[in-house]
Amino acid sequence: MLNTLLKVSSLITPQGEWDLQLLNEVFPPCDVIRICSFPPAVELSDKLVWAYTRDGNYSVKSGNWLLTHEHEVVEFVEESTKRINAVKEKVWGLHTAPKIKLFFWRVLSGAVAVSECLHRHGINSNPLCQACKVEEETISHVLFGCQLAQQVWSVSGLPVPDNGFFPTTVENMEFCFMVMSQSEVPLQSRQAIPWLLWEIWKARNDLVFAQRVSDPHILWVSAKDDMLEWCQQQESIASNDAPDGRRIVGIGTRWCKPAIGKLKCNVHSFWINGSSFCGGAWILRNHIGDVLYHARDAFLPRVNRIASELSCILWSLCSLRDMRFSSCEVWMDCHAAWEAISNPRAWPKYRSQTTNIWQVVRVMREVSFHLSSPKANVLAKEIACSVTRDGRLTSYLALGGPVWLQDRIERDKSLGD
Ligand SMILES: [Zn+2]
Repeated sequence: MLNTLLKVSSLITPQGEWDLQLLNEVFPPCDVIRICSFPPAVELSDKLVWAYTRDGNYSVKSGNWLLTHEHEVVEFVEESTKRINAVKEKVWGLHTAPKIKLFFWRVLSGAVAVSECLHRHGINSNPLCQACKVEEETISHVLFGCQLAQQVWSVSGLPVPDNGFFPTTVENMEFCFMVMSQSEVPLQSRQAIPWLLWEIWKARNDLVFAQRVSDPHILWVSAKDDMLEWCQQQESIASNDAPDGRRIVGIGTRWCKPAIGKLKCNVHSFWINGSSFCGGAWILRNHIGDVLYHARDAFLPRVNRIASELSCILWSLCSLRDMRFSSCEVWMDCHAAWEAISNPRAWPKYRSQTTNIWQVVRVMREVSFHLSSPKANVLAKEIACSVTRDGRLTSYLALGGPVWLQDRIERDKSLGD
C-alpha cells in the first residue's frame, strides 16, 4: 500500500509545491497540515538524517545515548502500540468496504481530523465536541460517547458494554469486533456494525460542515441497507452470476461493434462522494465504430455510485429519445445499476429511478441494457471524468467524438470486431 522507498522529492510537484493529493494518500490529515505549514525546499536533495540530533548529523554522544536508552525507546513503542496493532490487524480481515477499513485504520492511528487531533497538533481549534459542546471531541467520543452515537447504538438493539462504552477507541473497537463474532446477535445487525460506525462519522461531518442534523433511525436503516447492497455486489462479483440466475458470459475487455444496423451507447457516471457533483457521459456508435454523438453533463450530488449511474442512464435515454432514436443497446460498467434496472423489485431503494428509466424505454421502442467491462467502457468513463476532473460543468451534446479521444476511437474501430 505504501511505498517505503518514497523520497521527500517525490512529494513535490514540478512547480515546486507540495503534491497535496499524494500527501493525503501517504500521511494522516493532521500531519498533512503540519507538512504544508512549511514550503518544500526544492533546491535541496534527499538525504538520510539521524533522528536523535537536532541537525540530523550523527554524533558519538547521541549514539551512546541511544545505546543506553535503546531498551526504553523500543519498549515504549511496543507497549503503547501492541494492542492497537492487534486491532489494526483485524481491521484488514473485516468483511466490509475498503473505504471503511481505511477509516478504521485511521481511527486507530489517531489520524482522523477531530478537534482533539487538530488541537494536539497546535492547530487553533476548539477541543470541545461540536455536537454536544460538553466533552472533548475525541474520535471515541464521536463514534461511541456523544448523544447521537448513543441514540444510534440504542436504536440498533446491538449489545453495548454493561457500564457504557469505554474511554479509549481501542477498547471500543475491540468490543465491536467481539460483538461481530457473537452468533446470538442477528447476523444482519452484527454485519452492519462497520457501516453503523461509518454512518455516525458521516453524520458528524454533516453536522460540522453542513449544519445538517441526522436522525438515528435513518442512520441505522442506511447502515443496514448499504451493508446488504455491498454484500450483494460482492456475491455477484464472486459468482459472476446475475441474481436471476442468468450467467454473464465472459464480459470481453475490449469494446465490440454492435451488429449491422444497431447502435451502441456506452454510458458512465463519475461519482466521488455524496456531496460532490457527479459527471456523466454517453457516446453513441454504429456498427462501423463511428461515433454519431457524444454528450456530457454534471449532475447534482447523489448518495452513491449506483444512484449516480441511474441518473446518468436516465439522462442518456432522454437525450436519445429527444433526438428521435428509437432503438439502441445501452452498455454500462456499474454492475449494481445494471441489476437494479434488470430487476427493479430486488432494488426498492432505486425504484423511482428505475421506473423513470423504464418509462422512457417504453416511449422509445427497442432498448436493451448490457453490462460492460470497465475497460470496454473506458471512453465514456474518460469523458465523464473530465467533468469533475477538469471542472467542465457545462453540459453539451456534440456530433462525433471528442477530438482528444480520436486516437482511441480509431483504435476501438480497428479492433472492435
Ligand atoms: Zn459530543
